[in-house]
Amino acid sequence: MDETEERSCGKIIRVAFESAADTEFDYALPDEIRPVEIGQRVEAPFGKKNKLNIGFCVDIDKSKPDPSTPLRFAQDDKKSYKLKRVTRVIDKEPLVDAELMELARWISSYYVCPLGQVLAAIVPSAVKRGAGVKTQQNVYLNIKAADFEKTIEQLRGKKQKQIVAYLKEQGAFNKESSLELQALLKAVESSREPLKSLAQKQIIKTVQKTVMKSLPVIPEGMSIRTQGRIVLNQDQEKALDAIKAGIDSEKFGVTLLYGVTDSGKTELYIRAIQAVLQKGRSAIVLLPEIALTAQTVQRFNERFEKIAVMHSGLTAAQRNVQWQKIKSGRADVVIGARSAVFAPLAKLGLIVVDEEHESSYKQDTAPRYHGRDVAIKRAQLANAHCILGSATPSLETLANCQSKKHFNMVRLPQRVMNLPMPRMRLVDMRQSRVTQKGINLISEPLAEGLKVTLERKEQAILLLNRRGYSNFVFCPSCKHTLHCRNCDVTLTFHRSNTPRRDGMSTITGTHMHSGYAICHYCLAQTLVPEKCPLCGKGFAMIGLGSQRLEEELARKFPAARVSRIDSDSMAGKDYYRLLRDFGQGRIDILAGTQMLAKGLHFPNVTLVGIISADTSLYLPDFRANERTFQLISQVAGRAGRSEKKGTVFVQTFLPEQQAIRYAVKGDFDGFIKEELKHRKACNLPPYWRLAAVVMRDMNFEKLEAACAQMRQKIDRVVRRKGLKLKVRGPMPAAINRIQRFHRMQIIIQAPQAATVQRLFTGLRAEPPVRPAVKIAIDIDPVNLL
Ligand code: ADP
Ligand code: ZN
Repeated sequence: MDETEERSCGKIIRVAFESAADTEFDYALPDEIRPVEIGQRVEAPFGKKNKLNIGFCVDIDKSKPDPSTPLRFAQDDKKSYKLKRVTRVIDKEPLVDAELMELARWISSYYVCPLGQVLAAIVPSAVKRGAGVKTQQNVYLNIKAADFEKTIEQLRGKKQKQIVAYLKEQGAFNKESSLELQALLKAVESSREPLKSLAQKQIIKTVQKTVMKSLPVIPEGMSIRTQGRIVLNQDQEKALDAIKAGIDSEKFGVTLLYGVTDSGKTELYIRAIQAVLQKGRSAIVLLPEIALTAQTVQRFNERFEKIAVMHSGLTAAQRNVQWQKIKSGRADVVIGARSAVFAPLAKLGLIVVDEEHESSYKQDTAPRYHGRDVAIKRAQLANAHCILGSATPSLETLANCQSKKHFNMVRLPQRVMNLPMPRMRLVDMRQSRVTQKGINLISEPLAEGLKVTLERKEQAILLLNRRGYSNFVFCPSCKHTLHCRNCDVTLTFHRSNTPRRDGMSTITGTHMHSGYAICHYCLAQTLVPEKCPLCGKGFAMIGLGSQRLEEELARKFPAARVSRIDSDSMAGKDYYRLLRDFGQGRIDILAGTQMLAKGLHFPNVTLVGIISADTSLYLPDFRANERTFQLISQVAGRAGRSEKKGTVFVQTFLPEQQAIRYAVKGDFDGFIKEELKHRKACNLPPYWRLAAVVMRDMNFEKLEAACAQMRQKIDRVVRRKGLKLKVRGPMPAAINRIQRFHRMQIIIQAPQAATVQRLFTGLRAEPPVRPAVKIAIDIDPVNLL
């Protein structure tokens, strides 16, 4: 019996199923099934009906099997079940290596998500399905080289002779060097018949081969080829030295690269990766929403040989090809969106997270992980370095730089080549005219700016921060907006979608005729009065929509070539085409949502207009100010990326608002100071940790009952473990109804992450909540909607 066989014989393995409960299950691995390793998938009967399910092998019992007691780890401790048996091992090799398995375990525990579900997310489904893999027939010569001449002589058919000669010429003497059948037939212009007779005579053999399709993923026509060699400036040199010191230590560490847009961060990522590759290690670059990064992908592609790309715009087949390329070691630089953090690279030396503050790094379905935080954890497990880059770092990262030993901050305070910062113009929209159709979206100053830009044959980007559920409300006659009674912030209006009986409201105890307003700091909620409390004339609600913007542009600038781009409506190809058209000057004004704010370089853009800088301020979320600040700063970075000076118009109904004022001044430090004050006073991140338990159901009574029980369970665990934390709710979620599901949430605030962990470990051990409703646990939520 050879060694591998012995290892497998009568083993017990532990399996995590994607679809099952929050547990792992033990199975017997029968001798007749080939050995399995951790990270491979197996098929096994599951549940009362023994339906065959697929799961990952996550552990193997290393002890010597004892045939008399094959009952260890039975699926229920109390009874000695005979273990069910694995029916099949699916993968030839593990899909998840030891390091990723450890990462998966950490995610499962930290983000409160079943291990099977985490593993399912780590390996793309395209890989599991084998997308893009095709089987082909190959042919090779089955004769010794010495017998060659003799064989040819004996052959009658001309085509047969040709085929044999061709195979010899191409060196197809065995399986490995075999030629694809169709290609062979084409080369010698033959039908299948001669092949068949050659095969009958055992002169040739055919084999089945599985090969990956060749599917390029690097977008074309976006090249911004860098002219000549870039000589780093002093700030860059200093920053690179700090990063290299981290890389050279070969120990885990994080560098925050805090530099304004165009300060040369990407150039430093490239240099850092070069340093890592020289050490024989590999690198991952994470970018938010890859659709934005066609230019960036090109840029990396120009600088690195073995690059793989992973993002949501790829077809399943392309994704599998890229994954296999990484797994087999044919790529050492991976560039991609959030999930590229799971790229199966060996010898990882560096992870770069560009725009680390981006909330799109948070996945909004289970596992609800934060790409940046997983990147940091993976770097730690791999003894790798991690670079977080941003012009407006998250408050969490700034706090980490102050409090954690292995976090280090370096700054790039200036734009490269001394590009001037764009001019910022604040436009007070309260002066704007209200017409029949609502308020004008393009103010007079912006219209004037656009006119001048068009006359000069320069280009403009207009940004509409449109969000379906946010509603803007203020009184048009006295300009009054609602403020929180506890905090000095503007309240957000929500139309109430929940049909309720009178007296049943969980918010105020009164029936809701219009909606309620919520403070995104202290979560206090109040009814919105129907009339303005100051002037008694009423509240106006203004919805801003991109179609209306287009109409208004067409009216005001009939000759301009206007295009609209937005993430909801745009497929990848159209998106690239539009950007190319814009880059080549075939579009004058490009209007769109947030996705326009990031990562694009268009030297001829000299005007950027933010149609409503306030929109995100009205989100019922404590990060609203932070978002607003980030958005304005980022957009500002789009203007004037050449010697032509750019202007940014920031339209707002709230010109006194702190986030807007600081952003227009470009004063990030000032903003941070102000913002941290609020966060501290209200026990919010980065000081305290948050977790949200969001529950939903079509039936409101059922939901309320389930929420009440969840709250009881939480209280019980808190009491039992003596945890120091705050529990709020259950209360209606800010968006209290989505797709006919009512939503409620319970919010946990704790001074330490470990406290949150202890609570959820306790809750995971509790029996399930009844009545059963959908429950989503969101650790470190990026918003509370
Ligand atoms: P960021 O990532 O901070 O926005 P980039 O690295 O993209 O900045 O740099 C902006 C532009 O300036 C790019 O076109 C880049 O090639 C160029 N660049 C970067 N560093 C230098 C430098 N030291 N000298 C000249 N050009 C530079
Ligand atoms: Zn408040």
